[in-house]
Amino acid sequence: MRNRIIAVVLVALLLALLLLKSCAPDNHSSVPVVEPAKTLLVPAPPFNADSAYAFVAKQVSFGPRVPGSPEHKACADWMVETLNRFGADTVYEQKGNVIAFNGQPVPLRNIIASWNPQATDRLLLMAHYDSRPFADHDDERQNQPIDGANDGASGVAVWLELARHLGDSTSPTKAGNIGVDIFLTDVEDMGQPSEGVMGAGNDPKSIKTWCLGSQYWVKNPHVPNYTARFGILLDMVGSVDAKFPREALSMKFAPQVVNKIWKAAAATGNGDRFLSETRGYVGIDDHVVVHEGTGIPVADIIAWDAATGAFPKTWHTHEDNLSGIDKESLQAVGTTVMQVVWAEK
Ligand SMILES: [Zn+2]
Repeated sequence: MRNRIIAVVLVALLLALLLLKSCAPDNHSSVPVVEPAKTLLVPAPPFNADSAYAFVAKQVSFGPRVPGSPEHKACADWMVETLNRFGADTVYEQKGNVIAFNGQPVPLRNIIASWNPQATDRLLLMAHYDSRPFADHDDERQNQPIDGANDGASGVAVWLELARHLGDSTSPTKAGNIGVDIFLTDVEDMGQPSEGVMGAGNDPKSIKTWCLGSQYWVKNPHVPNYTARFGILLDMVGSVDAKFPREALSMKFAPQVVNKIWKAAAATGNGDRFLSETRGYVGIDDHVVVHEGTGIPVADIIAWDAATGAFPKTWHTHEDNLSGIDKESLQAVGTTVMQVVWAEK
């Protein structure tokens, strides 16, 4: 009797096991388990938004960085000195002259700081540093230059804060096969003033009056036959509660770069800033010029405001000053791009 009970129990157990096995989704376990969230995180230094904010404040403290002005020169000198101090192997300064929309010659000074200049596999990190010589979207003092705390200084500040870590032991440049170039472009923001030039419905001729620094660079690269794996352009990344849709031109010629950035944003908890929708609100920016001139896929991270349906409301006004800079926006963008750069091997 006892043996029969044991035999029945054993058969029941065997049947139960077989049944469980046949229902199981895989052969590891029959117990439904919650898949752990896939993480894309690589060890990267923490991005310090206080430091980035201080870099915005420093640039603004020189005064508007209008090409050819003493304020512009002082700021450019400080950026070169800072990039050298942060361990750039070479800081190229490209000087030349370009012609503005009104026929005026404008002196130009592009700055390219390179880590591992000998590496052929490179990352190109871009932002413009000049500030617009007029406030054509303001109601007052339209002929006076703007501070450009967001439009210009914010992108530079994020790259400077990242540059501060390019000498760390975890830096992607440490293995020696990857080079990084921080390209601070000049004379980006002197385009012909007219409504909608940087929005929808651009005049195809006036569009060429923007991004004169990067246009000069594609014709005169700082090293012959320059190329890079991909590029990231930062423009207006410091506005209050900044949101970044997938920018339509970047999606056209650099979708893989956009995806890489948006994945890193989600992985670092910044998915609420980096929106999944694609929006066309940029007429031209340095990424278009560099892509057309070199074929390098470059993605633009550039703020979009639901209230305006385009750029933040401070755009090309005197309100684009230090009081409109949001450390949390700098933090979200900085953490994200640090993650992207550090994930490259
Ligand atoms: Zn601008």
